[in-house]
Amino acid sequence: MNTVFQMQAPALVPVAGSDASFPVRRVYCVGRNYAEHAKEMGFTGREEPFFFSKPADAVLFVPEGEVGEMPYPPRTSNLHYEIELVVALGSGGRDLTPEQAQACIYGYAVGLDMTRRDLQGEAKKQGRPWEVGKAFDFGAPMGPIYPRETVGTLENAAISLTVNGETRQQGDISQMIWNVAESISYLSGLFELKAGDLIFTGTPEGVGAVVPGDLMVGSVQGLGELHVKVVA
Ligand code: MN
Repeated sequence: MNTVFQMQAPALVPVAGSDASFPVRRVYCVGRNYAEHAKEMGFTGREEPFFFSKPADAVLFVPEGEVGEMPYPPRTSNLHYEIELVVALGSGGRDLTPEQAQACIYGYAVGLDMTRRDLQGEAKKQGRPWEVGKAFDFGAPMGPIYPRETVGTLENAAISLTVNGETRQQGDISQMIWNVAESISYLSGLFELKAGDLIFTGTPEGVGAVVPGDLMVGSVQGLGELHVKVVA
């Protein structure tokens, strides 16, 4: 193909237990989707779901059993972790019902929605977009994708994060305000969803800061563990 420079390969996330990879198209994230996290961010009550995006190449894939290295991003002094269930779509569409949305799920992974909280806070205060707080390089570490045909449809699963061995976040994905099918359904009314889309589905309470040298270990029951070290 005649491109004016070499095209970048798409972000690829390996599928657990297989030699296949999942090519990432878009990365959507659900905001404030667990009640106790919404409270710690200063919000109460059931809002309509809302979304933001990260670029596909912000994905930092970490193989199971390895420790990924995430460079501490520039222009922040308050880098936060948010442990999340990631949903990978194998098909898509527009205006999906929750039942149709569920049928689009190819698989699941453990992910971290890393956040430059100081820049996000400043953006919120000024009514500006969240990109600088959320959409930075290496801002979406994640583990391999577990196919739904292997692990089943996840509705209850413990989700947790430790930092340097201390538990910081602990919950269950059943505590989501908008469950996975509802979030995908709502999102499909805003964007046409397609195979390759990833959705980070929100974080339970307990978010906080990490600094270079810290080791985060995240897990969602049935999806293995994600090990990420922050490096300078
Ligand atoms: Mn998040």
